[in-house]
Amino acid sequence: MERVYNFSAGPCALPEAVLLKAQQELLNYNHTGMSVMEMSHRSKDYMAIIESAEQLFRELMQVPDNYKVLFLQGGASSQFAMVPLNLLNRNNKADYVNTGVWATKAIKEASRYGKINVVASSEDKTFNYIPKLDQAAFDPDADYFHITTNNTIYGTRYNELPDTGNVPLVGDMSSDILSKYYDVKRFGLIYAGAQKNMGAAGVCVVIVREDLLGNAMDFTPSMMNYKNHADNGSMFNTPPTYGIYLCKLVYEWLKDQGGVAAIAEVNIEKAKLLYDFLDNSALFSGTAAKEDRSIMNVPFITKEHKLDDQFLKEAAANGFVNLKGHRTTGGMRASIYNATPLSTVQKLVDFMKKFEAGNK
Ligand SMILES: *Cc1c(COP(=O)(O)O)cnc(C)c1O
Repeated sequence: MERVYNFSAGPCALPEAVLLKAQQELLNYNHTGMSVMEMSHRSKDYMAIIESAEQLFRELMQVPDNYKVLFLQGGASSQFAMVPLNLLNRNNKADYVNTGVWATKAIKEASRYGKINVVASSEDKTFNYIPKLDQAAFDPDADYFHITTNNTIYGTRYNELPDTGNVPLVGDMSSDILSKYYDVKRFGLIYAGAQKNMGAAGVCVVIVREDLLGNAMDFTPSMMNYKNHADNGSMFNTPPTYGIYLCKLVYEWLKDQGGVAAIAEVNIEKAKLLYDFLDNSALFSGTAAKEDRSIMNVPFITKEHKLDDQFLKEAAANGFVNLKGHRTTGGMRASIYNATPLSTVQKLVDFMKKFEAGNK
C-alpha cells in the first residue's frame, strides 16, 4: 500500500527519511549486532545516542548553558503536575492563561498543589483566539506564569510572549517546538511531548533553568522531581531509550533541512498556502481568529458544517487522512507539522479546490 497524506494532530507523520533510517538500523545498530531497543541504557553505544540527541537539540533550540535538557516519560500531561510540584516553592501561587483543553487540564492539575490565578481565558468563544493579556492582572509574587504556546485543537498561537518580568514563564510547547525560533531565555521552563514535532509518543522533553531546580515540594515523588533527572543526565531510571533514539534521528533530519530558521520559513509558506485558500473559498473557512492563527494546526469547516462529513469521506478515499477536527470542536483540522512537506499541503489545497468546484 502507498503511504497516505497524514494530517494527524499527534502522534503524526514523521519524516520518511527518519523512518527509513530507523528501519535500516533496526536489527543491527552501528555494528553492535543488536537493536537500539535491546541495548543497556548505560552502554557506550546508547550513551552516545542520548548525548548526541541532547547536543543536537541544544544546537537546534540554541539552549543556553544555564538550562538543563531532560528526556522524560509520562507525556506532556505529567508536566501538568511536575511543573507545580517543582516550582510552586516560594509563594505557592501561579498565573495561568486558559487557551484550551490542554491549558484547562494544566490549571486543574496545578490547582491541587497551590493557588492558581487564571489571568485570562478565551473559553467564551470556544478558544478560537488568544486573549489579550493585561499586565495589571499578573501577580508579581507568582512562582511562575504558564502558557500553552500553540493550541493544537483550536489552531491558535501567541504572536508575542507575555512579559512576566522576574516571574519565570513556563511554556507547554508540545505542538510547536522546533517549528519556529523561540528565545529560550524568555522562559524559565519549556516542556513538550515528542509526538508532534520530535518523534514518537513516550518521550517528553523539558528545558529548565538551573536555578529553578532543587526546591520541589517535600512530598514530590522522586520520579517527578526534576533535580533527580537533571543530576543523573536523564538516567535516574531507565529512560525511554528507543523514543530518544527516534528524537535524535528527527533532530539530525531537521539539521539537514537547515535547522529551525529554515523549517520555519517552509512552515509559514505551508500555512499561508492553506489559509489563503480558505480565505478565498466560498465553501471552506478557517475557524481561528486571523491574527492568532497557528502555523501548525489549521482548523476549518465547510459552510454551516453541511458538507464536513462528505468532505472527510472523499478526502480519505483520496488518501488525505486524519483530517477530522477534535471531538470538542467538530469540523476539520489539518495538522501540518515540520514533517509535512509543502507538496503535501499543495495536494490538499488542490483536492479542496476540486471538492469545492464539484459542490457548487
Ligand atoms: C498533545 C498535547 C498535550 C498532551 O500530550 P501527552 O503527551 O498526551 O500528555 C499537551 N499539551 C499540548 C499543547 C498538546 O498538543
